[in-house]
Amino acid sequence: EHIVPGSGGKRRLGVMGGTFDPIHHGHLVAASEVAARFCLDEVVFVPTGQPWQKSHQKVSPAEDRYLMTVIATASNPQFSVSRSDIDRGGRTYTIDTLRDLRAEHPDADLFFITGADALAQILTWRDAEELFSLAHFIGVTRPGHTLTDPGLPDGGVSLIEVPALAISSTDCRARVERADPVWYLVPDGVVRYISKRQLYQSGTEGARS
Ligand code: ATP
Ligand code: MG
Repeated sequence: EHIVPGSGGKRRLGVMGGTFDPIHHGHLVAASEVAARFCLDEVVFVPTGQPWQKSHQKVSPAEDRYLMTVIATASNPQFSVSRSDIDRGGRTYTIDTLRDLRAEHPDADLFFITGADALAQILTWRDAEELFSLAHFIGVTRPGHTLTDPGLPDGGVSLIEVPALAISSTDCRARVERADPVWYLVPDGVVRYISKRQLYQSGTEGARS
């Protein structure tokens, strides 16, 4: 099934960065599809600290986003969650994420998975040049966005189509706030965690700080 593992090749590690506020089935389908298509051994989900692009927005506590990510991925033996970005503290830059993962897995090939919207911004990311030397980038389709090569160095990015799920965390948060359902947009355990912690309900204790 896997081309490389077990045959003396390098470990193939996917990296799925995100705010995951909350994690939803769009994230999970993207990771699963890339894992299959690129014969990845594992996909590490890395919840951000404070995302620099969202510095003007309120983001839920890192611990809640981390736990929702763990809940959503726990049943998949190929999925894991890294605390690297939330433990580093401060704003999250993908260059730091990749440097940490590279140090932790010196022998692995890294594949950074990103949706079409994020990929379009990639050349504006900190230390863009070095980013492409640390990982191969995989851009995935996302409804409402056009997937194009943002002009990475030759062979630096692969573009693939994944099943279209028109789900965003922004919409999930708005739904919870309006008391509309998020069942089947996010995993069942995440629905229950949101309700238990009263996330996204403005005016409650669990409201975003
Ligand atoms: P928000 O609305 O708060 O920005 P989001 O739904 O965009 O949340 P993020 O945590 O910002 O989720 O995204 C993490 C990564 O997952 C990004 O690379 C993003 O492009 C990708 N992604 C998010 N939703 C989808 C989706 N439905 N299909 C494909 N990729 C997605
Ligand atoms: Mg987003």
